[in-house]
Amino acid sequence: ETHKETLGFQTEVKQLLQLMIHSLYSNQEIFLRELVSNASDAIDNLRFQAIARPELLEGQGEPRIRISTDKDAGTVTIEDNGIGMSRDEVVANLGTIARSGTAELLRGMTGEQKKDSQLIGQFGVGFYSSFIVADRVEVFTRRAGLAAGEGVHWSSTGEGEFEVASIDKAEPGTRIVLHLKEGAGEFADDWRLRGIIKRYADHIGAAIEMPRQAADEAGEDDNAGTGWESVNDASALWTRPRNEIGDDEYRAFYQHIAHDFEDPLAWSHNKVEGNLEYTSLLYVPGRAGFDLYHRDANHGLKLYVQRVFITDRADQFLPNYLRFVRGVVDSGDLSLNVSREILQNSPAVASMKTALTRRVLDMLAKLATDDTDKYAKFWAQFGEVLKEGPAEDAGNREKIAALFRFASTHDDSGKPSVSLADYLGRMQDGQDKIYYLVGESHTQLRNNPHLEVFRKKGVEVLLLSDRIDEWMMGYLQEFDGKGFVDVGRGDLDLGKLDSSEDKARQEEIAKASEGLVERIKGALGEQVSQVRVSHRLTESPAVLAVGEHDIGAQMRHLLEASGQ
Ligand code: ADP
Ligand code: MG
Repeated sequence: ETHKETLGFQTEVKQLLQLMIHSLYSNQEIFLRELVSNASDAIDNLRFQAIARPELLEGQGEPRIRISTDKDAGTVTIEDNGIGMSRDEVVANLGTIARSGTAELLRGMTGEQKKDSQLIGQFGVGFYSSFIVADRVEVFTRRAGLAAGEGVHWSSTGEGEFEVASIDKAEPGTRIVLHLKEGAGEFADDWRLRGIIKRYADHIGAAIEMPRQAADEAGEDDNAGTGWESVNDASALWTRPRNEIGDDEYRAFYQHIAHDFEDPLAWSHNKVEGNLEYTSLLYVPGRAGFDLYHRDANHGLKLYVQRVFITDRADQFLPNYLRFVRGVVDSGDLSLNVSREILQNSPAVASMKTALTRRVLDMLAKLATDDTDKYAKFWAQFGEVLKEGPAEDAGNREKIAALFRFASTHDDSGKPSVSLADYLGRMQDGQDKIYYLVGESHTQLRNNPHLEVFRKKGVEVLLLSDRIDEWMMGYLQEFDGKGFVDVGRGDLDLGKLDSSEDKARQEEIAKASEGLVERIKGALGEQVSQVRVSHRLTESPAVLAVGEHDIGAQMRHLLEASGQ
């Protein structure tokens, strides 16, 4: 070894290591999933870069990941023939965390084991999860395309520092050696590891190999005991026919691509043939990632072109308001040399986007009918994101609006459970508008005097208190041919809901009150733009209303908060 140096981990890494070791001890085996996942990414990456530079493959054989154990030494070794890392990359990748949301994650930790392990799991623990089972980790790696003398040896006990040194490494790729902790010795066992791999990694595209088992030695195979055998299917899951894939496999694949411990709420797997040929496998996650609202976060689908991995943040295939969707698109039409620019301007991508958007909206509609509980979970996590839809995607406005759930005066729970279809089904005779009220909170809305007349007439009003609601309603003019009316605004016309006697009485009252109105106007002066006799109150004497075309209170607060 030459050029040896000792470096400190970035502070966040130290914190993460501490937290991980303490909160994930009941979920130790995930280290294997993370390391296999990294090896698989590295293989995908090499194949992608070799499209432009075939010499990177250096005559290596098929892509493979090899896993072996040594009981006596207490080690597990994971080796891949993927892209490998240069010295700079080792220092950057295995010494820092560059992911967005790290600070939030660390702040969100409670010290409560169960909660924290969920948080970390959702964040994706990655390479550092090695330290859940190992008290020393060594990485031997060489970047494909660099000389054999430019190999790197990284090692650490996970306590704040790591060492890097230059070594000779004959093959490009990465070998990771875990020196198991006392108490984690069970993992130095091939059968134990096979079991884990079966569960987590059958869908991994590269072959995962382990030493041929002793049981085979009795057979004719001369390589028995020294050779390797594949322990996974090594067929990319989405390329297989739907009816041959079990739900467990779909779930495991989701966990692999989404870096999530939990199950997805729904998925949709489709092969499209004809004009455009592509396969898509799209998932609705069970919970929002940390970076849902980060502008530069890792949104998008994993894109493959004819099974060759291209990128895992292809955000051109779905609109922004569906950015929570995870999954894979494999296109038969795009070129392997596809670039960001091409993706942005390709008519093929545009029509795939249209079709995939439909697919997701249909999948959500189906989830809403099939499983109300799961849909409620979805809505709690992603409802606010979906509400960006009417503004972004005018063509699908009606479909998107049908997925919305609101609180309403129909029940007092304040839970967003009312769909627009539910609302339409409960409309009164003569009602031709959908009434709603926007405010800061459900409690505030429930007691709002604007609702008095609606209560009296038995007309339901939707109660909207998400930050985004007022803005969103600006883009949602109607549903199923019925216009929306903000009951907190302007002069309320109840249309046919008011009988002609009602109207005559209202006019009489307005006439009789002219003098009073003038006096109030005089008293309030500049503070109001108008004083009117209102028929919407049954108990309160007066109410403040927003002008028909003025911005409402919620938008005003948003704009003020953003300094406008
Ligand atoms: P993530 O996989 O989410 O990026 P990890 O902590 O798992 O985070 O890995 C950090 C980085 O280290 C990876 O992005 C990759 O650049 C590098 N890396 C890890 N394992 C390997 C490997 N086997 N081959 C090449 N690079 C690797
Ligand atoms: Mg990883």
